[in-house]
Amino acid sequence: MRRLTNVDNFLLKNNKLMYIIALSLIIKLNMIVRNITGTRDRSCNCCNTWKGHWEKMHNKNARNCSRKGCSNKADVGAHVVRTIDSTWRIVPLCHKCNRISANEWFELNKGVQTVSADHFSCE
Ligand SMILES: [Zn+2]
Ligand SMILES: [Zn+2]
Repeated sequence: MRRLTNVDNFLLKNNKLMYIIALSLIIKLNMIVRNITGTRDRSCNCCNTWKGHWEKMHNKNARNCSRKGCSNKADVGAHVVRTIDSTWRIVPLCHKCNRISANEWFELNKGVQTVSADHFSCE
């Protein structure tokens, strides 16, 4: 094997850096969402509320609003759309954050779990 030149070292170092940047960007984008309006009539067949559905899927209570920087308690399981893949997700939000305009992207707390809004049963 040939010896690593300065150029190789540079590329290796920067590829790793690019990888880390790309990965953190993906993680970050994963957590950037916006509200979906007009979902009032969409109901979950299995649970009474979407918040209940979220709680059942994660086997825990939704205590706090998921929006980064908000310390209100979670009032609803809100429909949001995720930046990265445009999928509809359910996250616990307070009433105030659930009323954020659908044009406004906002960030969720690190590690917040979402559930798909595309299926209508807990099975
Ligand atoms: Zn359910
Ligand atoms: Zn909130």
